[in-house]
Amino acid sequence: MEYNEIIKKIIKEKGVSKEVLESKINDKILELDSLVSKEGAANIIAGELGVDINGTDLAEEIVNIKNLLPTMKNVSIIGKVTDIYPISTFNKDGKEQQVGALSVNDGTGFARVVFWNDSMSIFKNINQGDSLKIINAYIKENKFGKIEIHISFRSKVRINPENVNLSNIDISKDIKVSREKIDLTEIKKDMDIKVVGMVVQLFKKNCFFNVCPECKKSVKADDGAFMCKEHGRITPERKLFISYVIDDGTSNIRCTSFSFDAEKVLGLSTKEAIELADSHEDNAYPIEHMMNKVLGKEIIINGKTQFNSFSNTVEIVSNKIIDKIDYNLELKEIYEEVKYADKN
Ligand SMILES: [Zn+2]
Repeated sequence: MEYNEIIKKIIKEKGVSKEVLESKINDKILELDSLVSKEGAANIIAGELGVDINGTDLAEEIVNIKNLLPTMKNVSIIGKVTDIYPISTFNKDGKEQQVGALSVNDGTGFARVVFWNDSMSIFKNINQGDSLKIINAYIKENKFGKIEIHISFRSKVRINPENVNLSNIDISKDIKVSREKIDLTEIKKDMDIKVVGMVVQLFKKNCFFNVCPECKKSVKADDGAFMCKEHGRITPERKLFISYVIDDGTSNIRCTSFSFDAEKVLGLSTKEAIELADSHEDNAYPIEHMMNKVLGKEIIINGKTQFNSFSNTVEIVSNKIIDKIDYNLELKEIYEEVKYADKN
């Protein structure tokens, strides 16, 4: 491959500027005491950056997301982008660093893909619904036990590649959030929304509801016994349920969160909440206990708005809560790990 073709390919795949790339190539020539040609140096840089300049990547074996295992390396996957998370920015050694993440679904499963530093220029060009082909990524298990696909400087990411057809994958049910957050003043009923706000009020009341342990449907006590329409008399499982108000600086709105989302907002696991409630014989006690920590907490809420005819207002029912501080911390941890992994 000729010099110009090589650098064109590197620029296309890595999103680096021509100036940066040419200075890297010149540095490489100097480093090698001018023993290589410009073309030879460009070849070396391409190799270092993981850009395959010999043929296409059609031969890459694609792994199904459901078959990904932690510690796998040089993995290639394809998938449709279902969700893009906000970019996290932080300072590291006086330099501003960015980490971005998105979710992909390939029809067999979904996983989060983590981008950082050099790959951020690619990340910023990706939209919800895009098909991605990711080559040479490595797999990690995050602290929640979920599989994550990490993009390193050796990875290649192709957005909507020609030879990949994912039109058979329906991701409409996965798409719950939009890339851009909206202001609370713009909220109407029946919208899928993403709001970044602060919890300014938390309602102290019973924070549990009961479900059938089999089908997870909500059950109510009838004469002291819990009956599921399908499973008869059951011992219910308790799930968390909370109501609160968030404020995003433009307005405020009442929100409801269940189960995992409620755990995120409260900062308590369901098990911990049950223990607190039982030991105080008060189903509102977990809320009282966490009140000071929850108020002022910044969260990212993905959810649906609905009209509450009782209060005559629009409310949000969350379907995914991200604790902003946790999220930034988590991305920072990921960043440290990726940086380490890239050096080894
Ligand atoms: Zn049931």
